Amino acid sequence: MAVRPKGSGNTVNGGALPGYFYRLSARAQRVWLKSDSIDRFDLIPGPATFSLTAVLMTALSSGAPLVIERAAQALADQICRQLAVRAVKIEVRGVRPHNTRGELHGIFYPRGPSPRPGAPLIILWMRTAQRHDVVKPRTFLRTLMHELGHYLDYALLRLEESFHTTGFFRRESFLVRSLCPPETTAQRAPRTAASRISSSREASSEEE
Ligand SMILES: [Zn+2]
Repeated sequence: MAVRPKGSGNTVNGGALPGYFYRLSARAQRVWLKSDSIDRFDLIPGPATFSLTAVLMTALSSGAPLVIERAAQALADQICRQLAVRAVKIEVRGVRPHNTRGELHGIFYPRGPSPRPGAPLIILWMRTAQRHDVVKPRTFLRTLMHELGHYLDYALLRLEESFHTTGFFRRESFLVRSLCPPETTAQRAPRTAASRISSSREASSEEE
């Protein structure tokens, strides 16, 4: 589940429950509330994890799908190992599919895609739908952590369904922050006016 229409956000923060919550079964509501109550994982990345993250970031600038796929798989494997869950297969594809609702950044199949269900599978797209640019490394990392978050809902938290609760998005942010702390102003390279314009356009079309 990762079609991300512009301006979609979660409004649970502050206590109000989303409308669809009331249409869930009592059992699903319990799953939803449990998901919403957990905001992080018991994960402290070590040097190996940081270096695998750096390899993925560099791989994205290469633009080579297999290199990116291998790097994404290695990082996901490392996180799964640290959290003591079975690894999940990652597949990286080219241009994001899109429709009027938005672009598909990634998708998670708990039992693999039909018609031949099997092992869990994460598919990530590495190029934007309109301009076919390689996705910005941090955005790609966030998508990977989003889909991995869905996997961990089942494999680690043992939830029967994986909902987009505020807790879910906090766990996603926790993973991204843990692996790749936000760059500080001092570390940011000075940019020309032209590159600022193009990167803000890219940000508005691909950032969630
Ligand atoms: Zn999702």
